[in-house]
Parts: sequence; structure tokens; C-alpha cells
Amino acid sequence: MPELPEVEALAAYLRERAVGRRVERIEVAAISALKTYDPPVTAAAGRTLTGAGRHGKFLDLSMDDLHLVVHLARAGWLHYREAFAATPLKPGKGPIALRVRLDDGSGFDLTEAGTQKSLASYLVTDPAQVPGVAKLGPDALAADLATFAARIRSRRGQVKGVLTDQEVLAGVGNAYSDEILHVAKLSPFAITDRLTDEQMVRLHDATQQTLTDAVNRSVGQRAATLKSEKRSGLRVHARTGLPCPICGDTVREVSFADSSLQYCPGCQTGGKPLADRRLSRLVK
Ligand SMILES: [Zn+2]
Repeated sequence: MPELPEVEALAAYLRERAVGRRVERIEVAAISALKTYDPPVTAAAGRTLTGAGRHGKFLDLSMDDLHLVVHLARAGWLHYREAFAATPLKPGKGPIALRVRLDDGSGFDLTEAGTQKSLASYLVTDPAQVPGVAKLGPDALAADLATFAARIRSRRGQVKGVLTDQEVLAGVGNAYSDEILHVAKLSPFAITDRLTDEQMVRLHDATQQTLTDAVNRSVGQRAATLKSEKRSGLRVHARTGLPCPICGDTVREVSFADSSLQYCPGCQTGGKPLADRRLSRLVK
């Protein structure tokens, strides 16, 4: 799933390639991917792309007071094309959800792999009209220590869950939270209101460091190479069974119904593996 660094890089890429161009038209192939109907997509035709930015993990393409806001969800992506076939996109079951054609013949497709269709796009006159954007907490990369600590402590729960709650702080998802907690040397199951001030400073520093490094690695990458760049920078996420690059211990995993987390016992939990409820249920 694209998180803050990848969405930031996509926005930077679009600022370079697309901003300043006129939108010829927006074609919608997957009706479920467009969550708004007023203004209609035809309202974008002839408008100039004036900016590309993000709100947390939401990409925001502005055409003056009109915004195409996109949440790529778990399996969504953006593909920039130098040229398209002239024939309009056919609604159907392919991976392309939405196409934006620009006046020089180039443009981009929003695609979604797999069968779980959760990519969401919104054409609005104010990004705050998007429910997910309106509820976002402060940006994880912009939050200073005081703001960050107050937000994290505002929810009592396991730090992994609180850090990825977009209403607490915007931008961090499953992959970067694993990385941040590894850098901070904190258990993903540590309870937020029991974190010491020293642990909170470590968590804030780790968030800043991890996201800044990832943004620096990602910005300047073409959309096509962003995903492999993300993978190459990871220390524990998606590395179950591999050695931790810091202490050499084996990276372990805890599985949930539809996700999993990875961590290093040596760095994060005093050498003790965390209970994996799914596994222990299987053993019983
Ligand atoms: Zn380690």
C-alpha cells in the first residue's frame, strides 16, 4: 500500500510531468472507484492542472478550485503514460479504474490489482469534502514532538495500531509503522499511555527519520520504480525469517485476519517472541 513517502513521490512526479497541462478529459472505467457525482467528471475537461500534493496518504490533484482526490488503498497505483490509444476506455473488469488524459496526449491511469476494489477517487471543490481527508490527524512528518506525543497519547492502545490510525496522525501505514517501531526499538504491542517520555522521543525521532529517508529515496523515482525502491529500503517489514540488519536476530511476524506485522525480537522485545494468536490457535 502506498504510504506517505510514495504518495509524496507521486505528487512530486506529477508536479514535474503533469502540472501546467490541460486536462482533456477524465474517463471512468470502474464506477465504484469514483465516489462523487457532483461536480461531474466532465467539469474537469479543459481545466489546467495547477498543483499536485497530498493529505496523509491521499493524493490531491488541483485544477484551481476543483480537486481530484485519490486514495490508492492497498492495491492501487498510478501509471503515467506518454500516449494512449484514441479509443475511450471501456468500463469493465480490467485493472484500470480511471484515466486522466492531458492535452499533449500523455496522462495517467489509476489502477487497482486484485478483486478487492477499494481505490477511491473524489472530484470535489474542497479536499475537506472527502470524509477521509476531513478526519485526518496532523501529518506524521510535519508533527513536532509536542503535537506527536499528544496525538499518540490521545488514544490508549497498542502503539502499532495507534500510529497507523489516520485520525491520530496522517500518512503512516502498515509497512512504515513496522520500520518506525524497529528504529525506535519499541514493541508493536507497547501500550501508548505507558510510553515513557524517553520512549516517546525515540518514537518521534524514528518517525521523522524513517519517513524523511523514505521520501528522499522515493522522490525523483519514476512511478514505475517506486515500489521496488520502497522494498529495498525496508529493515523488518515483509522480511519474516531474514536476519535483522542491526542485530542479526531473525525477523518475526504476527498475523491478523487480513494483515501481518513484522518485528525483530532482538531489537524490540528483549529477545522474546510476541504471541501470535492465530498460530497459537492452530497449535491448540
Ligand atoms: Zn534486530
